[in-house]
Amino acid sequence: MRQRQKISAALAASAATAAAAAATMAMGSPPPTTDIPPAVGAPPSGPCALPGIRDDVSESATTPAGYARSYGTVKALILFVDFPDARATLSPRARFAEFFPAATDFFRTSSYGRLSYHPKPLLRWIHMPQPVSAYGITRGGAFDPDSDTGYYALSRDLVRAVDASVDFRGYDIINVLATPNAGPAATRTVLSVTFSGGDMGLRTADGVPFRNASFIWSRQVGDSAFRVLNHENAHSFGLPDLYYANGRDTPALVGHWDPMDEDWGPSNDFLGWHKWKLGWLAADQVRCAPRGGPAAEHTLSPAAAVGGTKIVVIPTAARTALVVEARSRGPRDPAVCRPGVLIYRVATDVPSGHGPLRVVDANPRSRGCFTTNKYVDAELTDATFRPGAIYTDRASGASVTVLEERADGTYRVRISPAARDPRA
Ligand SMILES: [Zn+2]
Repeated sequence: MRQRQKISAALAASAATAAAAAATMAMGSPPPTTDIPPAVGAPPSGPCALPGIRDDVSESATTPAGYARSYGTVKALILFVDFPDARATLSPRARFAEFFPAATDFFRTSSYGRLSYHPKPLLRWIHMPQPVSAYGITRGGAFDPDSDTGYYALSRDLVRAVDASVDFRGYDIINVLATPNAGPAATRTVLSVTFSGGDMGLRTADGVPFRNASFIWSRQVGDSAFRVLNHENAHSFGLPDLYYANGRDTPALVGHWDPMDEDWGPSNDFLGWHKWKLGWLAADQVRCAPRGGPAAEHTLSPAAAVGGTKIVVIPTAARTALVVEARSRGPRDPAVCRPGVLIYRVATDVPSGHGPLRVVDANPRSRGCFTTNKYVDAELTDATFRPGAIYTDRASGASVTVLEERADGTYRVRISPAARDPRA
């Protein structure tokens, strides 16, 4: 989850300073070898790069200043904390190994090699002066400089403990890994949280604000439990929560099609819109179908494959679009049980946790096709459209026709853009 913070205008300057400092630092260990050729991604631009919310995580195509860079080399400081009432019973290295190198590999493959993530652990337990109960850490806990409890107090004590030995200017993001025995089990309540974007009112001795910080508590279960870290760090990159923030009893909006909704259970890849926003797609991998334009055919390469067209964006209004992509089973998408064309609605003016992105279900009330894992929302697992299907958005007039699944796993689709904006 992610807590909202205000963004300060002073941040852009300090971010530039931090970037300059990072650039002059000696490089750490080289990135792991990869079979993915490095290629240049491009930040979103053009008529399909929809503007929207500018002061928080959102589906806006462009992420505001103050957030961490999400492509190229990203340096992550990893700190380990325990408490007088919850002393660590494992080594920092063992806690580190619960997340790395898996989280690094996930970012590298999901980004097609465009995000090179460098975790730098400070391999000792930092003993917090107060019991975990005294900090009053709760789900949705605030970062309040005026409070002696909560995340501000915890972070202030943490910064005091490490400021002499850590140069915060050298890092893009911060991960605080709490000893897993602190607080409730993740199966009971998920406490992990990220404070991203703005200046939160806590400065380090190095002159940079303490921000873009994720706090990871307890342990998730399942075969890719590390992905809570990818989810939390993605908030520092500007992505919103896709689940309803006020209770999960409502039907899933995205389900297992993106880890910003479900980061438990089997692995799942990021949606193509998110990959575009994060700078993980090259310009020619995104097709734009502006309102009033001609119908056209496109060939979509599944997210699991490295090259090819990844998304077609069909704007339906100034702040909304339909996005079309192909998904098939792969190492990051083992739970895909109905490969095909996925269609979803993006709303750049809808806040995080309030449904900014919704998958269109090709088979509503079907109960889905992946039903064997309680951490996968089954209903939407068969949401994909197969060859022969036509989806029409009545409100805008846009339509998507799935023409063919080719032997190479790509899909040929015909896109009719939305009608011209009557006000234009
Ligand atoms: Zn979140």
